[in-house]
Order: sequence, then C-alpha cells, then structure tokens
Amino acid sequence: MEFRSSKALRGRSLHSVAEDMLRTKTYGAGRICKVDGCGTRLSAYNPSAVCALHGGGWKDEFRRTTRKATQREEITRLCAYEPCGREFVTSNPAKKYCSDACRMKAFQARVMMSRREQTDSSLQSARRAS
Ligand SMILES: [Zn+2]
Ligand SMILES: [Zn+2]
Repeated sequence: MEFRSSKALRGRSLHSVAEDMLRTKTYGAGRICKVDGCGTRLSAYNPSAVCALHGGGWKDEFRRTTRKATQREEITRLCAYEPCGREFVTSNPAKKYCSDACRMKAFQARVMMSRREQTDSSLQSARRAS
C-alpha cells in the first residue's frame, strides 16, 4: 500500500533524526555555540546548537512545560446546576458540574427554558397579529 510505504519512509527519517540527536548528546559536553564569535560552551542539557543567549530561551520552555505538568491542582467548585449545588473536586478548571448527570440536566433545563421563551414570544406575536 502506498500509505504504508510513505509511513515507513517517514519513520526512517525520524529514526535518523533521533540518531543525530543521540550523537550530539554524546558530544554534548564539548559543544560550543554555533553563532560565530560566541564560543560559549553548551550545556549538555541544551538540546539546541546555540547557547541560551542565542537560542531563544530553551530553558524557559523547559521550565514552563515542567510547571504545566505539576499545575493540575485539584480545586473545589460548586455544581453549576443550581438544584444540585453540590461541592465537587476537580483538576479541570473548565468543569462546571459535579457529574455528567448534572451537566445533562442543566443542558435540558436550558433547552426547555429557551423553548418556553420561544413559544411565549410566538404566542405573543400570534396574539399581536390577530
Ligand atoms: Zn551563543
Ligand atoms: Zn451536581
């Protein structure tokens, strides 16, 4: 299959990239910044070929991703479905309801409300028309 062969090709190129990275890692301690005239010794943990000054903050990126991983704190929220109003604990700040059941009920209530508003306004306009 054509799809499979192209996938295999991509896999091979990825593999050689990984090999390159491994090779640079092996010589990691002795590398210097690629920018002419800089000559800064690169940290073995620096994945780029330039120093932190010229590389555009790989360290910041590193810090940000690690912080993100530990940032999933648990928060206590109140269920947004008012008849329920239960407290629940979640690590997802976008979560509004204590359970799927409440989410569904809140959704249904909203649909019913808008339907009622619609019928009300259509009744009014019908009355106005007559
Ligand atoms: Zn440099
Ligand atoms: Zn609830």
